[in-house]
Amino acid sequence: MSAEGRVYGYSAVLMGSPILLKLFEHNEGRAMRVFRLIKQLETLLTVNRPHSEVMAINHAAGDHPVVVSQPVFNLIARAKEVSMMPGSCFNLAIGPLVKRWRIGFNGDSVPPAKEILALRALTQPQQVILDPQLRSVFLEKRGMEIDLGAIAKGYIADRVRDLLRQEGVENALINLGGNVQTLGGTPDSSPGSWGIGLKKPFGAPDELIGVINVTGKSVVTSGVYERYFEIQGQRYHHILDPHTGYPLDNELLSVTVISDDSIDGDIFTTLLYGMGVEKSLAYLADIPAIEALFVTRDRQVVFSSPRQFSFTLRDDSYHLA
Ligand code: ADP
Ligand code: MG
Ligand code: MG
Repeated sequence: MSAEGRVYGYSAVLMGSPILLKLFEHNEGRAMRVFRLIKQLETLLTVNRPHSEVMAINHAAGDHPVVVSQPVFNLIARAKEVSMMPGSCFNLAIGPLVKRWRIGFNGDSVPPAKEILALRALTQPQQVILDPQLRSVFLEKRGMEIDLGAIAKGYIADRVRDLLRQEGVENALINLGGNVQTLGGTPDSSPGSWGIGLKKPFGAPDELIGVINVTGKSVVTSGVYERYFEIQGQRYHHILDPHTGYPLDNELLSVTVISDDSIDGDIFTTLLYGMGVEKSLAYLADIPAIEALFVTRDRQVVFSSPRQFSFTLRDDSYHLA
């Protein structure tokens, strides 16, 4: 616990990430309830441990359907729906490729092209068969694997927000490492808002391009600098293009999504990553509830139409487009 002005910060390391909770009162019990909830949900969703509901589905691939809890079923159903959208770069069945690349884990390497081709055949979202009556999930082919890494944190951030809301909390922030969800704002800012730092790509942890201010919104950032490895001057980061089997490669360094629900932020960062700036802006024109901020390799900061947030540039080597 750390106190800074009237803000009390509680931290933990969960889901392989530093987790930070900010409250406006000293309440150890509340922080413990939040961290316990995160642990419980991680236990259902992770693919980084041998046992979870998701791993039970993966272990039964090509063999039999597995009945899961309603929240896990709903999450998988949503992930499948997004994966099936035409041209979508989001793919919940990306597991075999993620496992093979091991980006961000020990033993990462560039797989031979032949292997990538073979693994792509095991990443077909239409072969994730859902039965809402039975609440079961069946992966049609042996070797298929679901990976909810792109949405688990968003889902969990929303459940933390719900818990805090139920407890009557009006102003709070939860940061799950890349996924920030907020209630209200800091009571001493007027109007109450939270300032969320936008990290400088490949910079020191405290170096910021700027600060995003929101009130009661989620802010999710996915960047090529989050998890990657380098071989012979080539950088390989952790968001894969399901159509090629290689890391997504375009003009983007990061995508930030501002939305009510963090699950939407988590889904849209991956989707928009795949689309690139121009397509994303056209696509978002019809979805006012989802707003985005892009950082490009040539140091431009590009917004969809900011209404629900404000942005203050802090680093003059970046430029507002
Ligand atoms: P994090 O914030 O933990 O870095 P992201 O939300 O940025 O996670 O999503 C990246 C994770 O999503 C990867 O580590 C991997 O588990 C999974 N993933 C990678 N590529 C895709 C993809 N094309 N579709 C869905 N999930 C993906
Ligand atoms: Mg992320
Ligand atoms: Mg995501």
